[in-house]
Amino acid sequence: MYAVAVVVVAVVVVVAAVVAVAVPVVVAVVVDNRRPHYNEPFFLQWHITDKCPLNCKHCYRDLEKNDLDFETLLSVLDKFAEFLKKIRKKGRIQFAGGEPLVSPYLIPLIKESVKRGFPVRILSSGVTLTEEKARKIYEAGCSLIQISLEGGCDKNDEIRGTGNFDMAINAMKAAKANGIEVTVSMTVSKSNLNNIDEVYEIAKENADRFVAARLIPVGRGGEELGDQLLSKGEVKSVLKKLKKYREAGVIDVPMRDPLWGAMNLNEFFPPKCNIVTGCSVGYNGITIESNGEIMPCRRLPIVLGNILENDLVEVWKNSKVLNDVRDRDNLKGECGSCRIKWFCGGCRGIPYGLEGDYLGEDSQCFRMHLNEKITAFFKPESKKNKGE
Ligand code: SF4
Ligand code: SF4
Repeated sequence: MYAVAVVVVAVVVVVAAVVAVAVPVVVAVVVDNRRPHYNEPFFLQWHITDKCPLNCKHCYRDLEKNDLDFETLLSVLDKFAEFLKKIRKKGRIQFAGGEPLVSPYLIPLIKESVKRGFPVRILSSGVTLTEEKARKIYEAGCSLIQISLEGGCDKNDEIRGTGNFDMAINAMKAAKANGIEVTVSMTVSKSNLNNIDEVYEIAKENADRFVAARLIPVGRGGEELGDQLLSKGEVKSVLKKLKKYREAGVIDVPMRDPLWGAMNLNEFFPPKCNIVTGCSVGYNGITIESNGEIMPCRRLPIVLGNILENDLVEVWKNSKVLNDVRDRDNLKGECGSCRIKWFCGGCRGIPYGLEGDYLGEDSQCFRMHLNEKITAFFKPESKKNKGE
């Protein structure tokens, strides 16, 4: 009897030792093998000017900044090219503002970027895009422009200012007539939730692509924008709508929101956790402001340094904010305990805009109630409590 007990104890000790050693090793291997999996090149969202003739309600611009001169902008471009070489990634540049179309340097910068091998695109409201300007942009090497639209004429102009709707439509036509692909981009809030179909119809008629993004409460609209944020259910209904458009296949409907992945994953058995995707902060893009400030994302406006003074590689590798966000085990609240956080990560701009905590939970996530159910499913004691 004594011998059996000794054997049992020995077996238990050995099994415990193997588990104690093996589990951390397996976890370490999985974590070490985690690889970013983003389908697009590393992007630079480059705000080449802070100037803009519009005054949109949900604008993310804050205090006015001084623009850089052309020579300095060129040095920013070279620094970005050098950075990509060092981190061994292919890049893309999206020119933004303010309004990039009003910058006298837009076309020369497109040319210089293309010369360095970067695909480029413009993020714009469409204001001032004449046929002639569109032709010059195309000839410079840019064949994609994103134009914002928030609804039909009345709703759009209520948000973006009187006359903007007509300007945006004219800009789409001018771009298309000159061989430039058009993406219509909508920022969805409570105010224009019921205008999505309308914008999609306009996009079908005038554009090649339709994207809709959630409103993020940052910038000069600040706290008041909090009231305009979609509820969890509304976010889900928007994504479902986009899915329907996408399946219809009339125009391209990219799904950029990290919650898109969350909607489509098998909640209980997500695929292997060695892939990182979803929010691209710290993984696949960076923002440079019109005064050279470096930010993780324009919707996560935390200044990490200034490209004119700081080495971008150094910032990329050593920024506390980027490192914090990169390791999604740092996330808090529901995102922290979520089984698919490495696929999604939530939008970091939401908790930052609402609470000032870039690691907080994305409170617009419609999976949150699911997370509770899943946790319960994997905890036998909670089943027992329910008498199952
Ligand atoms: S809880 Fe956070 S990480 Fe999980 S799906 Fe929702 S937003 Fe994504
Ligand atoms: S913070 Fe939000 S907007 Fe920025 S990359 Fe992440 S998900 Fe996209």
